[in-house]
Amino acid sequence: MKRILILTASFGEGHNAAARNIREAIEALDPLAEVHSVDLMQAAYGRLNQVARAAYFHLVRHAPSVWRTVYQLLDHSPRLAAGGRWTRLRTVLEGLLAEIRPDCVVSTYPVYGDVIAEIHRDHAERPFRLLTVITDSISINAAWHQSPSDLFCVANEASAQRLLDAGLDRGCIAVTGFPVSPAFQGLERCELPVPGDGQQRRILYILNAGSRKSGRTLEEILELPHTELTVTTGRDAHLKAKLRKRLAPYGERVRLLGWTNLMPQLLSTHHLVVTKAGGATVQEAIAARCPLVINQTIPGQEEGNAQLVVQGGYGCVVDRPSRVASRMEQVFAEGAVEWSLWRENLSRDSRPGAAIRIAQLALQEPESIPSPQREFAPTRGRVNGVSSGRPRRSPARRATGNEPESLLCDFHIHTNYSDGKLTVGEVVDYYGAHGFDCICITDHLADPRRLIGKLARLSRLTLSPAQLPEYFEVIRQEAKRAWRRYGMLVLAGIEFNKDGYTPKTSAHLLGIGLNHEVESDLDLPETIAKIHSQGALAVASHPHLMKSEWGKNTLYLWENQEIFVPLLDAWEIANRDNFFPPVALKRLPFIANSDFHKPRHIYSWKTVLQCEKDPEAIKSCIRDNQRVSITLYRGQEVGLAGGEPGTPSSSHFRPALAPHPLALAIDRIGAADVTAA
Ligand code: ZN
Ligand code: ZN
Repeated sequence: MKRILILTASFGEGHNAAARNIREAIEALDPLAEVHSVDLMQAAYGRLNQVARAAYFHLVRHAPSVWRTVYQLLDHSPRLAAGGRWTRLRTVLEGLLAEIRPDCVVSTYPVYGDVIAEIHRDHAERPFRLLTVITDSISINAAWHQSPSDLFCVANEASAQRLLDAGLDRGCIAVTGFPVSPAFQGLERCELPVPGDGQQRRILYILNAGSRKSGRTLEEILELPHTELTVTTGRDAHLKAKLRKRLAPYGERVRLLGWTNLMPQLLSTHHLVVTKAGGATVQEAIAARCPLVINQTIPGQEEGNAQLVVQGGYGCVVDRPSRVASRMEQVFAEGAVEWSLWRENLSRDSRPGAAIRIAQLALQEPESIPSPQREFAPTRGRVNGVSSGRPRRSPARRATGNEPESLLCDFHIHTNYSDGKLTVGEVVDYYGAHGFDCICITDHLADPRRLIGKLARLSRLTLSPAQLPEYFEVIRQEAKRAWRRYGMLVLAGIEFNKDGYTPKTSAHLLGIGLNHEVESDLDLPETIAKIHSQGALAVASHPHLMKSEWGKNTLYLWENQEIFVPLLDAWEIANRDNFFPPVALKRLPFIANSDFHKPRHIYSWKTVLQCEKDPEAIKSCIRDNQRVSITLYRGQEVGLAGGEPGTPSSSHFRPALAPHPLALAIDRIGAADVTAA
């Protein structure tokens, strides 16, 4: 079994993206490989690192020229950054290396090579291979290559030339391409028609935080003939709502997306992307052969990306927003001759399989050290910033003989497809690292006929019906990864919000285990019927009085039990910290969920099922409601790297399900027969 340690850092977007994609590729190639991805800066400096990051982002955004000076200073006197001041970094890395004993270390951040060189200065040989994946192109900071590495992986020939100029040996340079998501390799080579005269032109516009004054530019683009525009607004819901209103006159010609996980598909189906010169985005566009118009460049590390676009002949840079549309007109003029040239250059240099290639290089190395049989049991939680490999199942949870397993489950989880803080992928890693067996993603879908539905859609707190196919596809992909990586089942679901003016006319309904979308504008019994027609479960969420962040109680289902008890599969007996004893008193079938919106919500009521770890078995276990219990999950505090949504910063083992003082199991058969007043 190969052990790979990936070192990354949360400065800029490129390092973490590269680390994530390489990890995904390694796991796809070798499901048995033990891959650890560590934000070493975070692990070593914790709070201090956050201050540094804040300063970095502040400089980049508000004082780019100061940042340029700092960057150049680092470039010209890299020892200033490295020399002897990385004591803490060194201590933490030494600990990690001793614990993990990797066959290969993959570094996606410059200074780590120095630290490794310091650690192994006195030894003849490192006991592992070192791969340095350089995430800059063209302007490559010397901090990347001042210490030795077995292999430097670079994005293109021009980058390789920079290393040769700096005196490195050709033998230690591999032109792999930038490790974009392995999903790019899976894309069919989409042959778009040449957007010449009279042809449709499909433009993708990636808005980033801070680009709030882009409305005018977007309108100018839409004034061009034969133009269709797709705009992604990221996590900025406010911006999206504003643009929706402003661009409404253009009707179907403009498509607004908020956060999207489908960048590979978008890039490969558009003729042109307008974006800032972020390392990951530029490289993704190159991989997808999508010509670029760069409209913003951060001095220092992004200048190289902009240069790459121009020198490679992949697109152009415009110096002010008012030039974007006119430049675009030029690009498509005379039968789109300039566009065709860009496309040709991209086809030559596109390397969508870079992550897979780097993964092969990381896995290929012969096992250079004898690896004694060793139980994988790192002391998680001790080192902040570690997101580990597969959590080992605690023996206490392992069923013996033919007894069914005890499954720790959470069937009510929101992501940033509605008002949750994490992406679907981040939720999977978070729950996976906490050792869960089955989760269901249930983002809000509001009923457009109801007033609150309209409000909610406007403020982008809920899924829009147009996003549903993407939503189901992303969950499907993440479910595969979750199973491979954590042995965790991920079901797709929806929380249907049917909100009226009062608690008694409001209801939230969970559809659990859905395969595809259900219309948002159906009445409750009809919605339940549609859920059941997919073999999924219909469950009442927070059906009784509670303290609610949502604002209002949702009592409609409870008030109309004579209709809904026969229709529903189960009722939430607990929702996060709220507990609903009347559900027990009425002896209704129950489950308990966290109604997860952000990381700390994981410490809340959960369902434990005794059945096979299989979606059908889980659904029928809830329907029968014989081997269902609930537990107040406490786990162990797990922070997030960088204090922000992201990979779990440390992992730990699931708690054994031995009786927990706070755990509560409800035996339905023994429940008192009490009728609520
Ligand atoms: Zn709800
Ligand atoms: Zn909810």
